[in-house]
Amino acid sequence: MLPFDDALRLILESAPAMGGERIALGQGAGRVLAEELIAHTPLPTFDYSAMDGYAVASHAFQSDGPWMLPVRGESRAGALAPDLTPNSVCRIFTGAPIPNGADAVVMQEDVTRDRDSARFTLRPVLGAHIRRRGEDLAEGTSALARGTRLNAFQLGLAAALDRSELLVARRPRVTILCTGEELRAPGSPATPGSIPDSNGPSLAALVTSAGGIAELAPRTGDTLDATEQAIRAALRGSDLLLTVGGVSVGEHDLVREALARAGAQLEFWKVQIRPGKPLAFGRFGETRILGLPGNPVSAQLTFALFGMPLLRAMQGDRQPTPPRGHARLHSELRQKPGRTGFYRAVLDGDRAITAPNQASGSAASLAYADALLIVPADSAGFAAGDSVEMIRLAEL
Ligand code: AMP
Ligand code: MG
Repeated sequence: MLPFDDALRLILESAPAMGGERIALGQGAGRVLAEELIAHTPLPTFDYSAMDGYAVASHAFQSDGPWMLPVRGESRAGALAPDLTPNSVCRIFTGAPIPNGADAVVMQEDVTRDRDSARFTLRPVLGAHIRRRGEDLAEGTSALARGTRLNAFQLGLAAALDRSELLVARRPRVTILCTGEELRAPGSPATPGSIPDSNGPSLAALVTSAGGIAELAPRTGDTLDATEQAIRAALRGSDLLLTVGGVSVGEHDLVREALARAGAQLEFWKVQIRPGKPLAFGRFGETRILGLPGNPVSAQLTFALFGMPLLRAMQGDRQPTPPRGHARLHSELRQKPGRTGFYRAVLDGDRAITAPNQASGSAASLAYADALLIVPADSAGFAAGDSVEMIRLAEL
């Protein structure tokens, strides 16, 4: 049985790279850059005023003040600036280019206007209120590294650098195959012993938030032939196949055998974690396969812990795993050593209150949780007040 870290490393190292595709800038949120974004122009591209006021030449203020100077011309945002007429000042507005010959801007609050003249009582400071060409980013510098998962602010920077298109990683195609005679579509008529498929919709949402394109395959029952056929069909055109259920050791747990029959190579099928021990990982050509346990908490958490980082790594994301933080335990948290434990908890400031029901079938406890508390495999747990490592579910 593989320790958590080893299993994760093996999965991440095996991640096949998705090719790149050009997309319109407006489609870039959440996508991973497949190019280094270079500033081909300096940012800003020209010196401009940060204030409404007057562009001045500071050497015109050498005598004692106050100074009275004629106002000649005007520089507006979006237009070419006039040259500064010697011994005069130029009206200027925020965002407008600095006139040739000017080396400072005085804000209008510090100036008194008298018809065509302006009265200054403070000596202008050289360079004041001027945003310099290239002060934000010099021409030729690297603005964003390859492997950056683009957020709104990074898209803003790309736009400021005049990019209308970006090269990003193709989104991995993920097929989700739920197994089990008992499953039916949520909202469909109930038959005795049947339950709604709750993993399918949840996993599809997790896939989407990790940048993948999710497709739910038709659910399959618990016969070997049907499972094998469903797996063969689901493998076609998928970068990642998720099977759900049927990977433990019960006699109706056919997924491992069906995967083998379909030609998949399994790398491992057990990980030292709680919940979610029966987790299979394998490959079929370039397609990766994760065999998730069926219990909702196990399925959704193992996918969050292994599958989402895998999808991110496939897109070349430089940060494929979620950040970890720390919280203080509200009450003691004990476990039998042997497996890395992931425990659902609600956060109250920096305090973590463990969910009373840690059963792997408890969908409600997961839905209400804010974080997963991590207890190392060799630990028997922690006392109230101890600091414990955690992953915030919002940061998955
Ligand atoms: P299995 O791993 O197939 O033995 O399933 C373990 C438990 O999870 C059983 O109680 C199943 O009914 C349940 N289960 C399996 N798949 C799903 C699913 N897609 N949605 C909700 N529950 C499931
Ligand atoms: Mg089953």
